[in-house]
Amino acid sequence: MKNIAVLGSTGSIGKNTLEVVRNLNRNGYPVTVKYISANSNFELVAQQIEEFKPKAAVIFDKSAYLKLRERSLKHKCEILCGQEGVNEIAGRDDFELVVNALVGFSGLVPTIEAIKNGKDIALANKESLVVAGSLIYSMLEMSKTNLLPIDSEHSAILQCLRGEESKSIDKLILTASGGPFRDTDITELENVTLEQALNHPNWKMGNKITIDSATLMNKGFEIIEAKWLFNLEVNRIEVLIHPQSIIHSMVEFSDGSVKAQLGVPDMKIPIQYAITYPKRVESDFPRIDFKSLKNLTFEEPDFRKFECLSLAYEVIKSGGTYPVVLNGANEAAVDLFLNRKIKFLDIPALIRSALDKHTDGAKPDLENIIEIDGRSRKFVYEQAAVAV
Ligand code: NDP
Ligand code: MG
Repeated sequence: MKNIAVLGSTGSIGKNTLEVVRNLNRNGYPVTVKYISANSNFELVAQQIEEFKPKAAVIFDKSAYLKLRERSLKHKCEILCGQEGVNEIAGRDDFELVVNALVGFSGLVPTIEAIKNGKDIALANKESLVVAGSLIYSMLEMSKTNLLPIDSEHSAILQCLRGEESKSIDKLILTASGGPFRDTDITELENVTLEQALNHPNWKMGNKITIDSATLMNKGFEIIEAKWLFNLEVNRIEVLIHPQSIIHSMVEFSDGSVKAQLGVPDMKIPIQYAITYPKRVESDFPRIDFKSLKNLTFEEPDFRKFECLSLAYEVIKSGGTYPVVLNGANEAAVDLFLNRKIKFLDIPALIRSALDKHTDGAKPDLENIIEIDGRSRKFVYEQAAVAV
């Protein structure tokens, strides 16, 4: 029996996680959802409480929290509010694994809390590792927490590395679909619309990561994520465009052999692997039909067209707290784009300005990371307001 907390249970990864829980319970691997959390979608949280009967649900938004408390629920469940609510449940000893499916910087403190409390983590929230990889890994060294990636590329690499020695890895090859603008001419990017950017060819995901996939910032974040998860220098992590999203990533070994992990583009598979690791459990999730696959193609990423990918490589080289600025500025710029306040190409431009303005020096401890994140967002919102 595995007892879990699902943070961000109403999001794309959160809902897929609950679908995985249903599958595991059908297939002889019992999982109990003890805790759930969301920002404001109290209607869905109410439904999830009735189905999964958790001990407590945490709602971040105060008015949504109050509305949920007013609901008469058949299942008696504690309703808690905000970060204090998450901190309150983090220390309880009736669960072993946290699925962190929060989006953006909001996922960081829960990751840290889980490590402090010795809980295992199935991590979808890559932003935690982008902004605080060094802090998280120094904490992990002294804790009993196992951190397992949900991101499909990193799950693929984890699967390719089973039974291998780290010294025989030559390089990791992270595949990327290329997003909706893979074939768009660089001169046309200026005027792409929000609707076009949200129309991802292969994956159905939350809005923020969908925009990150259109700018390729998502792949930039994944390089940083891979660097921490697999303890490799970034010059041994390559990005390869693979539009069909069937090969989820590959590892090339010192003898020239390459291992790849394949599957349909469906997050339920990596989510389930992170929960059941190192076991595999049966599922009825969709399978690849190789006979209907016409071709698997590969191309180099265009760094000039997708400046966010270049920015990610640059901040990795700069190190220190530059990745915090990259993430904070990106989150603010994506928010502005989602609210139709800026154009698509303003996203990399605003991030570049925020990075140019930053001078490093602060130690990447939690307090500094929170401070620099706030400052970077504020800078981007102010810059955008001036430009309007
Ligand atoms: P969604 O936007 O779909 O879901 C986000 C979840 O977090 C929701 O439950 C939302 O609640 C909650 N939430 C949002 N903001 C806050 C906040 N400020 N405080 C507390 N809770 C909050 O995101 P995704 O599921 O797409 O992505 C989640 C993470 O997984 C991201 O880090 C993403 O990069 C990563 N990921 C996602 C993939 C995917 O296929 N979607 C693939 C690989 C990685 P509410 O519903 O109430 O707003
Ligand atoms: Mg991914």
